[in-house]
Amino acid sequence: MKPLGPIPSGFTAVDGVLAIDGRRVTDLIDQAHGTPLFVYSRAMLADRVAQLRRAMPERLAIHYAVKANPYEPILEVMSELVDGFDVASGGELAVAFKAGVSPQRISFAGPGKRDAELAAAIHQGATINLESEGEAARALAIALREGLTPRLAIRVNPDFDLKGSGMKMGGGAKPFGLDAERVPELARQIIGAGAEWRGFHIFAGSQALSADAIIETQAQTIALAVELTSQIGAPLPHCNLGGGFGIPYFSGDEPLDIARIGAALEEQFANLPDEFAATQFCIELGRYLVGEAGVYLTRIVDRKISHGETFLVTDGGLHHQLAASGNFGTVVRRNYPVAIATRFDAPVEEAATIVGCLCTPMDKLADKAGFPRADVGDVVAIFCAGAYGASASPAQFLGQGPAHEMLI
Ligand SMILES: *Cc1c(COP(=O)(O)O)cnc(C)c1O
Repeated sequence: MKPLGPIPSGFTAVDGVLAIDGRRVTDLIDQAHGTPLFVYSRAMLADRVAQLRRAMPERLAIHYAVKANPYEPILEVMSELVDGFDVASGGELAVAFKAGVSPQRISFAGPGKRDAELAAAIHQGATINLESEGEAARALAIALREGLTPRLAIRVNPDFDLKGSGMKMGGGAKPFGLDAERVPELARQIIGAGAEWRGFHIFAGSQALSADAIIETQAQTIALAVELTSQIGAPLPHCNLGGGFGIPYFSGDEPLDIARIGAALEEQFANLPDEFAATQFCIELGRYLVGEAGVYLTRIVDRKISHGETFLVTDGGLHHQLAASGNFGTVVRRNYPVAIATRFDAPVEEAATIVGCLCTPMDKLADKAGFPRADVGDVVAIFCAGAYGASASPAQFLGQGPAHEMLI
């Protein structure tokens, strides 16, 4: 049998059925008119942000990376909980705006911003994290034509990356940001052109579970911001330190020690030169804030045996949960935390492979793992589904269409 990932804390069994915030998933499925269904918990989102705030220095602002989950009710909840939003497309900018997030709290990163997207950000007053000199020239030209003052930051491609991160987004040749040595010149140019200087965005990687790696990267990031600021010769108003806080998805993964990260950051802040006394620092997190607050529920429609192996075939699949199938940024396929939700407190009785309903061998939700005996009509729960689920999966693949989503 292959191991399953660890089920996040906070879930219980009520009458043997998985419950989210004390509500049985079978009731939630009835309320949502069926499976497949993503359920997100408002209480878990609030708890997560509260724990993080307790661990981090008071001075540190917390931003939500909308990419992780752009479901509008989640954005509405997050807008009450966090200080800022980071978006990565004109589409995300529009949904954040629609969810009532004030543009002063939004920053817009991402390569390949079209003129219309830059214009929308400038009109609304969102900060643009510039990804290149060419993008800077286009943003300045649009602002000049419209008679507006753009709020501009520079995304820096640092010379280091976040060790052990699942997705490296800094260090070496990258389509993201401007190589650090070219940043001072562009910063002086945009300040000289009359833009509102908003500082740096330095993002070095994602999904790290090592506090030491994050502490080291944050120290390097702050040192780089100090060095670049001295070369630019203007005060640093704002610095986005990136994120990279991971969550345990797989067997053997341990939760991140955020208390240590917070303490180290407090010390970093205490040691900053005086001219950074007014600099606002933030981190931007996606999966850490929303990942564990979401569960994907799918119903078993067939049970079959092939060459002695038991297959449980569900009405869901990788078209909603690409990451659980191992096809979203992972090299080796490993099992997510998965359970039979309708037999949540029953003991393991057999090894089974849980698949989706797509006609492709990629559509595997759990491979040869131990479960209570489940049959047609039982519900499968995939945990850690709050981030990179519905919006990061090919919903139209094989004509299946999207899952239901609900926030409770
Ligand atoms: C994807 C991304 C994030 C969020 O990453 P998580 O691993 O979900 O925390 C944050 N910032 C930038 C620039 C990103 O591209």
